[in-house]
Amino acid sequence: MRQLSLFPPEITLRNGHFGKLSAGCIHGPLPEDTPVIVSNGVGVDSVALLIELHRLNIVPDAIVTALVGREWFGNEHGRFYEYLPILEQWLTEVGFPPVTYVWYEMKRRAKYFAYWSLAGNCLANRTLPSISFWKNHSCSVKYKGAEIDRWVTKAYGERPCYRLVGYDLSEQNRATRFSTKTKRDGPRACDVYVYPLQLLGLDRAGCEATIASADLPSPGLSSCVFCAAMRPEDIDALRPEALWLIVILEAHAQINLKKIRGLWGHGERMTEYIVRRGLLPAALVAEVWAKWSAAERPSELLDHREIAADEVLFNEVNRMVASSMFMVNTENGCQWADSNNVRHIIEL
Ligand code: SF4
Repeated sequence: MRQLSLFPPEITLRNGHFGKLSAGCIHGPLPEDTPVIVSNGVGVDSVALLIELHRLNIVPDAIVTALVGREWFGNEHGRFYEYLPILEQWLTEVGFPPVTYVWYEMKRRAKYFAYWSLAGNCLANRTLPSISFWKNHSCSVKYKGAEIDRWVTKAYGERPCYRLVGYDLSEQNRATRFSTKTKRDGPRACDVYVYPLQLLGLDRAGCEATIASADLPSPGLSSCVFCAAMRPEDIDALRPEALWLIVILEAHAQINLKKIRGLWGHGERMTEYIVRRGLLPAALVAEVWAKWSAAERPSELLDHREIAADEVLFNEVNRMVASSMFMVNTENGCQWADSNNVRHIIEL
């Protein structure tokens, strides 16, 4: 729903529909022809932001999405990938530029193993995303913020830009943190960050209403599947691939976790939750846990130092999914079975 904006009025969004033929614009400290760059996370806030810009007749110069891993090594929730074509089509229909995709690439030699995504990074270094330690979101800065900044510098040099981010009214703290990440002497130091949803007084419910008013489905949560921000009900809805990814990452990091227990920080591990809820078979999880939490790294990693950690990780995930589990309905409900004993269970 719309609420009173808490922002001071130094920056305003002007709707060009009320002018003659002029486009809408951002009125602030930078010239009116300043490039307008949207950081698009493909979540509820980001999509609502684009729809509100269209409503205001403000056409961005670029819409940039950072992929946390790409191709077979994507780390984001399945919803993220399913929503991309929907969003792309809408952008074409309203005459907005297409999404520009960026991603992290290693720039120096890896200390342990090379990696292509945050999950591979965690496996290689036997750690978890920084958000699990509740210190900061440096995982997001490294895999999203810094890559979007890099692209903006490549496209516009040191020219100051308006940087639009979809933080709603419930995310005032995030907005403050995000703005302070820019290096003071870096090429993006003169960019001006604008949070249109906050200027428009929109909270999360208001963003959902905005999306519905454009006849678009809600994109839902767009985070990495192993993000600490995932709620129990989000875990319940994950596919087995994502569940195994969580188990392996959490197990492999255990040896270095002194202050937290797992991806959710101090509380229950996501793996424990997965077992408690029966989302994966407990015996197999225990086997995988023992293998990946052992002091010595598994041979898949040690014997293949030439390939990226992501490849080993996703191969293991696929192996677990393929070689193991599917549900079999029995008289007593559902039972996990593997391909060797399923016939036996069905005959029961
Ligand atoms: S979604 Fe979560 S885990 Fe992924 S980069 Fe962002 S904060 Fe880190």
